[in-house]
Amino acid sequence: MNKRFDAIIIGSGQSGPSLAARFVKEGMRVAVIERKHFGGTCVNTGCVPTKTLVASAYVAHMARRAAEYGVDVGGAVKVDIKRVMARKNAIVEKSRANIAQWMEGLKDSRVCRGHARFTSPRTVAVNGETLEADKIVINTGGRALIPEIAGLDRVPYLTNSSIMELDELPEHLVVLGGSYIGLEFAQAFRRFGARVTIVEMADRLIAREDEDVSDGVREILEGEGVEVRLGAKCLSVEKDGDGFAMTMDCATGAPRVRGSHLLLAVGRRPNTDDLGLEKAGVALDSKGYIAVDEQCRANVEGVWAIGDVNGRGAFTHTSYNDFEIVAANLFDKDPRRISDRIPCYGLFIDPPLGRVGLTEREVRAKGVKALSAKRLMTAVGRARERGETLGFMKVVVDAQSNKILGAAMLGIAGDEAVHAFLDVMAAGAPYTAISRTVHIHPTVAEYLPTLLGDLKPLA
Ligand SMILES: Cc1cc2nc3c(=O)[nH]c(=O)nc-3n(C[C@H](O)[C@H](O)[C@H](O)COP(=O)(O)OP(=O)(O)OC[C@H]3O[C@@H](n4cnc5c(N)ncnc54)[C@H](O)[C@@H]3O)c2cc1C
Repeated sequence: MNKRFDAIIIGSGQSGPSLAARFVKEGMRVAVIERKHFGGTCVNTGCVPTKTLVASAYVAHMARRAAEYGVDVGGAVKVDIKRVMARKNAIVEKSRANIAQWMEGLKDSRVCRGHARFTSPRTVAVNGETLEADKIVINTGGRALIPEIAGLDRVPYLTNSSIMELDELPEHLVVLGGSYIGLEFAQAFRRFGARVTIVEMADRLIAREDEDVSDGVREILEGEGVEVRLGAKCLSVEKDGDGFAMTMDCATGAPRVRGSHLLLAVGRRPNTDDLGLEKAGVALDSKGYIAVDEQCRANVEGVWAIGDVNGRGAFTHTSYNDFEIVAANLFDKDPRRISDRIPCYGLFIDPPLGRVGLTEREVRAKGVKALSAKRLMTAVGRARERGETLGFMKVVVDAQSNKILGAAMLGIAGDEAVHAFLDVMAAGAPYTAISRTVHIHPTVAEYLPTLLGDLKPLA
């Protein structure tokens, strides 16, 4: 006989656990199914471990610069990758255990550890059992995309998951993919002491950003000795001694790179291929993501898809917002929608990039009459005092409404200070809400009114 629940949650990513807890708070019985680690990508192989690595890398970098600050570290800085990874593991394991404990403690509910597959629109099989519910929520996330490259089947490679298991420092890490995930690893491993080469197929790094942002990021990385090959086409890999060699036609640099370790960071693909979705009649979009409406509802009544698996976001904060949207619509009579959110994200190299809203290029393409301003971080007192003056900040404003359309802050605290723009955008207020506010001295955010004082028509 089928085991009946009020709701089944498949996957314990960044929104499933919160929704499970809300269901229980509403008096429902829930089954939460997780096939691997509680917390999913973010906790185990994404945001959390990468930010611990970035933190260790920052310490190494600043220790090397210690003399500039009048501090003597008493010799060459050495990084012990085993201890770096042990620190990372301790932080990850604590977060993972907290989520598992939270789910196991949910009243009248059940946690199943196994791979879930739909057997009908209302039933899911796991570990040989069939569970049934009128509400089924898919929070299965995604995984690294493995590109089709000649020779890749004969060369060992790393992904964001397996690189977390490394216990030796690569002699030469080749990172295929010059976008958000690849760049964080590239800089961190360079700072740990590895030689690092980024191979990117586009003609610039993070090609969806404005050109000055791509250039600024490249300058930061190259300034630390990361090698960058752009416009790399016709890639192939082969074994070469105890490492591998990658050959390419590329716009910059040598056409052959020999490395000890290869990291693939060319994108993500949704975990929808082994979920039995065809048994439930759940429709996918053209890229294999679950097609959802503005409330995260799939085409089948009683089925929701939240987080990366719906293709409407690729971040922890968008996944969590999906939970908020589903809960608000189901229980709070609050018609929250996916399209309510303003795009925002960070690139956590050092210094970081904080981004909100439209890029300058997108504003131009829309043909909106706009104003823009840009200032270098060297002008910011706090950055100078900290000796961290790389990068710039810029903002684009609608010339008619005075509302902020988008901003990029590449520089120290850029990931935090950019929220001033985001919150004013969300409030629907004009940019003067920031420029007329007195900010705390000395901070990076205190410079935003000065930046906004420079607004001129967008060329
Ligand atoms: C290296 C890296 C760094 C990142 N850094 C950031 C960052 O700094 N900031 C940010 O906002 N985002 C970051 N992200 C993205 C972020 O990790 C994801 O957007 C976030 O984890 C989305 O989570 P999710 O809720 O969609 O599901 P996921 O976290 O992907 O979790 C899905 C869960 O479902 C389980 N599952 C899958 N299929 C099944 C099945 N059939 N049965 C049972 N269980 C199943 C999986 O085991 C997994 O635990 C990063 C990603 C990577 C790869």
